[in-house]
Amino acid sequence: MVKTEYPIYWEKEDFSIKIFCSIPAIATGILLRAGDSKFVIDPGDGILRDLNDELHPDEILSITDVFITHGHHDHVGGVWSLLTYLRVMRKRTDLNLYYPEGCVEIESIYNAFRTVYSKSTSYQINLKKIMDYNRFTRRGVTINPFPVCHSEFINEGNETRLVPALGYKFGYKGKKICYGGDTAFCPELLKHAKGADLAILEAGEEEESGDGMHMSMEEAEMIGNSAKEFFLVHVPQ
Ligand SMILES: [Zn+2]
Repeated sequence: MVKTEYPIYWEKEDFSIKIFCSIPAIATGILLRAGDSKFVIDPGDGILRDLNDELHPDEILSITDVFITHGHHDHVGGVWSLLTYLRVMRKRTDLNLYYPEGCVEIESIYNAFRTVYSKSTSYQINLKKIMDYNRFTRRGVTINPFPVCHSEFINEGNETRLVPALGYKFGYKGKKICYGGDTAFCPELLKHAKGADLAILEAGEEEESGDGMHMSMEEAEMIGNSAKEFFLVHVPQ
């Protein structure tokens, strides 16, 4: 299998996305820019290092919104350090944190952060639990969350269970980026990726085992071909 070289970057005028990293069981980290706005998507371990390489500290402080697809550690491992960095650097403006209903990891990280730092945090964190799939707008960007189908092993790997998991479609000045997060092949992703200017699709299935939690290369490419451009990410290395 070909090793994906990160970062991966895409831009159309002032709408861009940079995937710092997306390696299963290690880390994801994505920065979306629309005009002056900066959103972080799936801040896995290493997100601060990558943001620090990419942005001036004042620009990191101006991040307004964080979008979480699901609670697995390779997608949320950097949330604690991001929240803490923004506190240390005295962020003054609100931070919105979007996550799927039932994602206990984000609520647990947030509660632990509140327990430790509530008296010394300079900014407001707004937990935004996504409970429906209605489109909303932030800073001129339309955000369309949609359900995807992702699971995890339990009981020593003998069973699996579904986890709360979302994909997001971001629209800005007529351009659309669809990010599926982690998912097995699912019709909702197909629907949202179709016609998008860019689809970011995981192809995380282990070739030998066919784990049913992720998409195979063929499935991801099939969906990708319905978009104008696509990237395959989260490929096992
Ligand atoms: Zn996952």
